[in-house]
Amino acid sequence: MNQTSCSTSLPKVLFQEENLPSIPTVALEILRLSKDPTVSVEDLGEVISSDPALSAKILKLANSSLYRRGDEITTLPKAAVLLGLKTVKLMALSFSLTRNVERDSADSDSDYDLEEYWRHSLTLGVSARALARRVGSQRDDEAFLCGLLSYIGQMVMAQSLEEYNEVLDHATTMLPTSELEFEILNFNFHQVGGALLTNWGLPSIIALTVSHWGHEDLQEYVGNEQELQLCQIMKVANCASNVICELEKGQALKELHDCSNEFFGLGGEQIEEFLVNLQQDVQETAQLLNLDLSETDDYTSIVEDARSQMVQISLNTALDLEATTNRQRELEKEKQELELKAYTDKLTGIDNRESFEGFLHDTIRGHLTRNRPPYLGLLILDVDHFKKFNDTHGHLVGDDVLKLVSKSLVHCVRETDMAARFGGEEFVVLLPGTKEEALERVAERIRLNIEQTKYVTKEGETLSVTVSLGGVFCDAIYSTEQGEDLIKLADDCLYEAKNAGRNQWLIKKIELEKV
Ligand code: GH3
Ligand code: MG
Ligand code: MG
Repeated sequence: MNQTSCSTSLPKVLFQEENLPSIPTVALEILRLSKDPTVSVEDLGEVISSDPALSAKILKLANSSLYRRGDEITTLPKAAVLLGLKTVKLMALSFSLTRNVERDSADSDSDYDLEEYWRHSLTLGVSARALARRVGSQRDDEAFLCGLLSYIGQMVMAQSLEEYNEVLDHATTMLPTSELEFEILNFNFHQVGGALLTNWGLPSIIALTVSHWGHEDLQEYVGNEQELQLCQIMKVANCASNVICELEKGQALKELHDCSNEFFGLGGEQIEEFLVNLQQDVQETAQLLNLDLSETDDYTSIVEDARSQMVQISLNTALDLEATTNRQRELEKEKQELELKAYTDKLTGIDNRESFEGFLHDTIRGHLTRNRPPYLGLLILDVDHFKKFNDTHGHLVGDDVLKLVSKSLVHCVRETDMAARFGGEEFVVLLPGTKEEALERVAERIRLNIEQTKYVTKEGETLSVTVSLGGVFCDAIYSTEQGEDLIKLADDCLYEAKNAGRNQWLIKKIELEKV
């Protein structure tokens, strides 16, 4: 056996002679002959005759419902002619390999469930062969052998790698999936099986298909059309065998529906009928291979179970989806509420300073990127002698005055402007796209509106509230940092308005420095 051709990324221990199911002499001979293009079916028959058990199986095969054409076949040469060179070769390999692998692995102390291994391998082989015939592929015997040998890498790993116990511990399926193997070991049964079959010298189509069919994107890995079709057959057959052998039948049936439709355009009813019809094939082939499968349910009821599980899964998926969408909506709402809270002043309900600063920054950026004259007005206002409301009537009355001022402010500005509480009894308004005269009109409107709004205390006393305003107007701005300059300069104007007697506004046009 050629030990050097195994992939270097796979553990060497997997390819040590003592850990491998040994390949029988007769199988080696068949492999040797099959590489010789001049070999005839008679030559092959002669080799098979040297192994009485194998001869009996080939005869039985020729008389099975799978291959029989007419009268009973009683001699090996006749059987070989009926079956044809390729079938004899591949089936002889299947029989001899199965027999030896079974015997060799029987004395292992691994927790790996060999009965399940055989049930899967047989069902997969039979499904693959039946499917190949169903879709008109000439490769039905290859499909059978690929199926029969697909999981051999797993069996070898389970028997010779200690780390495989971790895979077995985590498995939730009867046979561990290649994804789980890869997650834990960084390689999987496809790779090990492919390398092993290559080492044995099996036809390359068999070794390649076993190593490739598990890939999600087959086109990326598979070299030619024939191999691609065989890989697709294996994928579909594996789903079919999962419906029969695995516990999660509903999920397996769903996958079977999907891939048989995608690859071969088979409808749900067609593939289910195909599945039910496999039972006889599986039983007959199990006998040929001397595989004793413990009681298996009737396939019709297996498929019915799988179908109701599948419906339940779709139903749950729909419900899950609805629950997820609802939860997402709730989360989105909570997020919006939190954002709103973060940008709202708790007392007055208008925007707070953070919100204002964000708006100022965005507005300046908008002006900078759109490259148009940034008429921009900013007002800052402060309640006159506010302290006396607190001192005379208490903080709650002071709070009410602040609410009143906010209301007036919002009332006096446009939707596109932003009025915000800057802190304490100071407010700011940003008015994008507003020219100087318009800004002055707004300042006066605010001043007047607040002056005219009377506040009556519980005791019936009318308080007159006034504000002073400072403002700046500019028609060119060069950086977002200059937003702070606007606030600072408007604040200076406010200070001047206060000093000039309060209840008035002062607005200046400013020229910002080019940066
Ligand atoms: P001026 O006309 O010079 O602005 O005089 P003023 O009294 O308005 O100014 P000063 O800065 O002396 O007083 C502001 C007061 O505002 C002091 C502070 O206790 C009060 N204040 C700040 N925030 C709040 C608040 O949320 N609620 C209440 N009721 N009072 C507040
Ligand atoms: Mg103040
Ligand atoms: Mg004040």
